[in-house]
Amino acid sequence: MSKIAGNISLIKKKLPDNVKLVAVSKTHPAEAVKEAYLAGQRIFGENKVQELVSKYEELKDLDIKWHLIGHLQTNKVKYIASFVEMIHSVDSLKLLEEINKHSEKNSRVTDCLLQFHIATEESKFGLDLSEAEEMLSSVQFKGMSNIRICGVMGMASFSDDESLIRAEFSELRRIYNKLKQTYFSQNTYFSELSMGMSSDWNIAIEEGSTMIRVGSIIFGNRNYLLK
Ligand SMILES: *Cc1c(COP(=O)(O)O)cnc(C)c1O
Repeated sequence: MSKIAGNISLIKKKLPDNVKLVAVSKTHPAEAVKEAYLAGQRIFGENKVQELVSKYEELKDLDIKWHLIGHLQTNKVKYIASFVEMIHSVDSLKLLEEINKHSEKNSRVTDCLLQFHIATEESKFGLDLSEAEEMLSSVQFKGMSNIRICGVMGMASFSDDESLIRAEFSELRRIYNKLKQTYFSQNTYFSELSMGMSSDWNIAIEEGSTMIRVGSIIFGNRNYLLK
């Protein structure tokens, strides 16, 4: 078994049945994705549009579900709208309108998650609950028929403090529950809580994650200098 296949198998053994694994392949070549694919992995996450598009093109023959997990600029939606399976990083009404528009052009419905800012760090993207509620109550949102909001996504602080990370995940679950109750109680597709990365996915699962986004413990460390 290859190293990547071995890593995936170790993670999957510990993954509850209701939790999906998004293999985050950013900075790693298409060959690494292919190796994971041959080990049975189907969902892959990328955080940059250009890299996502080039791997999609290179691996077009494989039935991969591509997820965009990083910040998305409105002017780049058009490059991914024809094939992206899920966008984890919706953080404005303007972006959602653009995704809806390009999904319609491609005769598709694109699954989206709302990204929330739950970490203490300033730099991370994401909404707060009141911004999300404003968005979901808007007439613009109600008129969109080519997107589906399937849940929420968040990143915990980069920290060794397990109780802090746990509290942040728990806050995201609270937001998820609130939105589910208020806006999506009739929708079975609003069901995803995307949280947990290589260093904190165990905690995320204990806090209710349904989708972990894991890169380095599958593919090894990222070498940004080579990019
Ligand atoms: C890179 C990245 C991940 C995966 O990070 P690892 O620590 O390598 O598991 C998860 N989510 C997002 C949004 C990322 O950008």
